[in-house]
Amino acid sequence: MGRVYNFSAGPAVLPEEVLKEAADEMLDYKGTGMSVMEMSHRSKAYDDIIKEAEKDIRDLMNIPDNYKVLFLQGGASQQFAAVPMNLMKNKKAAYIITGQWAKKAAQEAEKYGEVVRVASSADKTFSYIPDCSDLDIPDDADYVYICENNTIYGTKYWELPNTKGKDLVADVSSCFLSEPVDVSKYGVIYGGVQKNVGPAGVVIAIIREDLIRDDVMPFTPTMLKWKTQADADSLYNTPPCYGIYICGKVFKWIKKMGGLEAMKAHNEKKAKILYDFLDSSKLFKGTVEKKDRSLMNVPFVTGNEELDKKFVAEAKAAGFENLKGHRTVGGMRASIYNAMPIEGVEKLVAFMKKFEEENA
Ligand SMILES: *Cc1c(COP(=O)(O)O)cnc(C)c1O
Repeated sequence: MGRVYNFSAGPAVLPEEVLKEAADEMLDYKGTGMSVMEMSHRSKAYDDIIKEAEKDIRDLMNIPDNYKVLFLQGGASQQFAAVPMNLMKNKKAAYIITGQWAKKAAQEAEKYGEVVRVASSADKTFSYIPDCSDLDIPDDADYVYICENNTIYGTKYWELPNTKGKDLVADVSSCFLSEPVDVSKYGVIYGGVQKNVGPAGVVIAIIREDLIRDDVMPFTPTMLKWKTQADADSLYNTPPCYGIYICGKVFKWIKKMGGLEAMKAHNEKKAKILYDFLDSSKLFKGTVEKKDRSLMNVPFVTGNEELDKKFVAEAKAAGFENLKGHRTVGGMRASIYNAMPIEGVEKLVAFMKKFEEENA
């Protein structure tokens, strides 16, 4: 069997070129006679890999010099705790609740300080992004927290919240490197890479230097203190070596594709094909307010659970994998990350049209 079109929300599709290159280098990485998996993280060869990866992501995102780039472990979920431990000086933070991941982050932060939920879209099952232009943000809040792209519900902030001068912390797991970003607008940007950048096991955190400090909560585990990792250039202990190596290859692939501007154009083109169809279909419909639609995760339903199931099963049989919606929302979801080719989306839409005709 050949490769399928994989619409998984994560771990997700990676560029075929990258996988092939990694396969070529599997037994002997550049004449070292070993795989990157077998290599000391203190070796010259590995040092080159991690330094080049950092350089490439800095180039791609145009990361200012006063931001550190950390390659960490523990998934995005680990940062739900690291964020308050490292940032809550006044033991208070403002959270905007736009879905499960923001909710979980807020619940975790609550263990360490006061969480003020300044806005939420829970009233309409997170199908929109609330107006964040004039929120009631406490004067003594240490930061404002968002989940920028809501993987499960398919919404995205197209405008960042007005934080009233507080530092913005954003979980960008499912929109990482999908479009250009102005890093200077954030205090912290972080994300698990398994959605759009690489294999599970790596989290990339981009943190403004003044937010990396010694006076963290006293019980903060050494490993969760950003300063530990920053001082050691992400090599305090053994990092997720192989995962970082693959991320580095994906950075090079994005550069070759034309960088984040080109990535955005590519993603907009794909999303438009799918959303245009959903807007014209009599059977399928999108579940999200149009102005807040994500370019990465596209949830949709037929309105009939049995028909949804039938669609997912028939799509799978036709080579379109992982279209089942998240267990908490049902229906379908097509995740169309950077590495999903345009023809994957075109073929999916053709398949949906055919299904619609057959089930009219
Ligand atoms: C997948 C996801 C997470 C959880 O990531 P883990 O690496 O499994 O902890 C957190 N936030 C967002 C936005 C996600 O999409």
